[in-house]
Amino acid sequence: MSLIESQEHRDLRTAVAALGKRYGRAYVTEAVRDGRHPDELWAEAGKLGYLGVNLPEEYGGGGRGMTELAIVLEELGAAGCPLLMMVVSPAICGTVIARFGTDAQKQRWLPGLAAGTLRMAFGITEPEAGSNSHRITTTARREGDGWVLNGRKVFISGVDVADATLIVGRTEDRATGKLKPCLFIVEREAPGFLKSPIPMELAAPEKQFELVFENVRLAGDALVGDEDAGLLQLFAGLNPERIMTAAFALGMARYALARAVDYARTRTVWREPIGAHQAVAHPLAQSHIEIELARLMMLKAAHLYDAGDDMGAGEAANMAKYAAADAAVRTVDQAVHTLGGNGLASEYGLASLLTAVRVTRIAPVSREMILNYVSHTTLGLPKSY
Ligand SMILES: Cc1cc2nc3c(=O)[nH]c(=O)nc-3n(C[C@H](O)[C@H](O)[C@H](O)COP(=O)(O)OP(=O)(O)OC[C@H]3O[C@@H](n4cnc5c(N)ncnc54)[C@H](O)[C@@H]3O)c2cc1C
Repeated sequence: MSLIESQEHRDLRTAVAALGKRYGRAYVTEAVRDGRHPDELWAEAGKLGYLGVNLPEEYGGGGRGMTELAIVLEELGAAGCPLLMMVVSPAICGTVIARFGTDAQKQRWLPGLAAGTLRMAFGITEPEAGSNSHRITTTARREGDGWVLNGRKVFISGVDVADATLIVGRTEDRATGKLKPCLFIVEREAPGFLKSPIPMELAAPEKQFELVFENVRLAGDALVGDEDAGLLQLFAGLNPERIMTAAFALGMARYALARAVDYARTRTVWREPIGAHQAVAHPLAQSHIEIELARLMMLKAAHLYDAGDDMGAGEAANMAKYAAADAAVRTVDQAVHTLGGNGLASEYGLASLLTAVRVTRIAPVSREMILNYVSHTTLGLPKSY
C-alpha cells in the first residue's frame, strides 16, 4: 500500500466528484423533503459502474475492492450527496454474496446490485440485544428443504427501497443444540415479513424500519454460505460496513468543511473576513487535519481488507470508523457555527447534516463499543461485561 494515492484512484475521485456535483446538495435536500430516495443519482451511479466497483467482473462489477467503493461514497458525500444505501447494498450484502454465496445466488443478485437495479438492506440490530449482537434471537428453524424464520429487528435502513434484506439470524446446531449466527436473504414480498417505518428525527432520504418475521418460510437457498461458518462470514460483511461508514462520515465532513471555508473567506462583519480570526480559522484547520488522519486509517483498513487480511482489517476498520465519525461530528458542528445564522438556514444545506453525521457515532457500532474492542482486542485489557 502506498500512502500516496495512485493516478487511477485520483481519476476515480475526479469522475465521481463530477457526477456528485451535477446532482448536488439541493437534489438530496429536495428528495428528503419529498420523502423519496435519490433514485436518479443511484441509477446513474449504477450505470456508470460506481456502485458495483467492488464486485466481481464476471457478475457485472468493476473487479476492484473496498478501497474504490469507499472512494466513490466519500466523493459523493463531499458533493453533498451521501448515499447510505451504498454501505449496505454493494458493500455488506454484495461482499457477503460474492464471497460466500452459491453460483445461483451470485447470478440472482450480483449483476443487479452492481448495476444498482437491485438493492439489498441488512438487518442485524434487535430491540433486546442492541450492541450485544450475541444476544440476537431471530431464529431459523429447518422445515423440509427450507427454513422458517421468526424474530424482530429494529432500525433497519432502506427496507422500503430494497428488493430483499440480508438478515442475521441463528440456527440450531443439530449436534449440540447451540444457536449459531447465520445469514438469510429474505425477499421483500415474503409472506409474514412485516415492516413498519420508525419515526426518526433525521433529515435523510433513507428511512429506518422495525421488522417482524412471523413464520416466514424461506427456501433452502435463502441461506448464504455455510451454516457452520456463520460468524466468519458475518465478519466479512462487517468490516466493509465500518470502512464504508467511515467514508460516509468523511464525505459529509468534507462537504461541510468546504462550505464553512468558502463562507469564512468572504463573510466580512469587521474589517477582515471572519476567516482571518483564529477562533474561526483554527477549528476549521483542525477539522481538515482530523479528516485527513481518519482517511489514512480508512484507506489502510480498505487495503488490508482488499488484500484478504480480515483480522488486520477488523482493527483498522473499527479505528477508521471511530476517527471518521468523531471528525465528522466535530466538523459539521463547527461548519454550522462558522455560518452563524446561515448555518441553520435551508439554503446552505448544513444543519440537516448534524443528525446525519451523528448517526455515524452510533451505527453500525457505537463509539464505546469500538473503545471496548480496542481495549480488549488490541490492548489486552480485561472486560467489564
Ligand atoms: C439511522 C440509523 C440507521 C441504522 N441502520 C441500521 C441497519 O441498516 N441495519 C442494522 O442492523 N442496524 C441499523 N442501525 C442500528 C444501529 O446499528 C444500532 O443503533 C447500534 O448498533 C446501537 O445499538 P442500540 O441502538 O441498541 O444501542 P444500545 O446497545 O442500547 O446502546 C446504547 C448506549 O449504550 C452504550 N453501551 C452499550 N453497551 C456498552 C458497553 N458494554 N460499554 C460502554 N457503552 C455501552 C452504547 O455505546 C450507546 O451509547 C441503525 C441505527 C440508526 C440510528
